[in-house]
Amino acid sequence: MDDNVGRVIVGEDELRAKIAELAAQITADYAGRPPILVGVLKGAFMFMADLARAIALPVEFDFMAVSSYGSATRSSGIVRILKDLEIDLTDRDVLVVEDIVDSGLTLAYLQRNLAARAPRSVEVCALIVKEGLQRTELDLKYVGFTIPPVFVVGYGLDVGERYRNLPGLFEYVGPGA
Ligand code: 5GP
Repeated sequence: MDDNVGRVIVGEDELRAKIAELAAQITADYAGRPPILVGVLKGAFMFMADLARAIALPVEFDFMAVSSYGSATRSSGIVRILKDLEIDLTDRDVLVVEDIVDSGLTLAYLQRNLAARAPRSVEVCALIVKEGLQRTELDLKYVGFTIPPVFVVGYGLDVGERYRNLPGLFEYVGPGA
């Protein structure tokens, strides 16, 4: 890689094992009522693909793209929808698939926004939650890993659109970190 990528935070093997565990739990919890998986682009695309393949239910897929205004590495809580869902959520069980929760402001906005579309339920599966940073009360049903408050890249997560294809999660130690 390059000098901007530091130590491993979550390795490939750990990711694989945890995703299998999360998917087994989701498969059991949603038996008989397969959810719509709502992926939050772009960061969650890789997690969504791996998680979905491990869920043994006929799930449906949709995607939203949001941007939260702020600096490269800090969220402001002001969220803009760049791409909206295509599937109607009325009376559906919705499972939001998120890459990472930092302040929690993006997710709090999404939960409010989705709840307003009259779904039967909305739950969240977040791969990563950063320790102690949430500025809002969040109800996260499934969490992969809790990590220290460092900025990470890889496995879908970027800095300036780079590093998304790294197969694990690494600490970013480059400019702006
Ligand atoms: P929040 O609103 O929870 O502060 O931020 C959530 C969004 O900020 C995530 O969906 C992600 O796009 C971005 N983000 C937060 N922490 C990180 C991080 O450590 N690395 C990267 N690449 N993006 C992050």
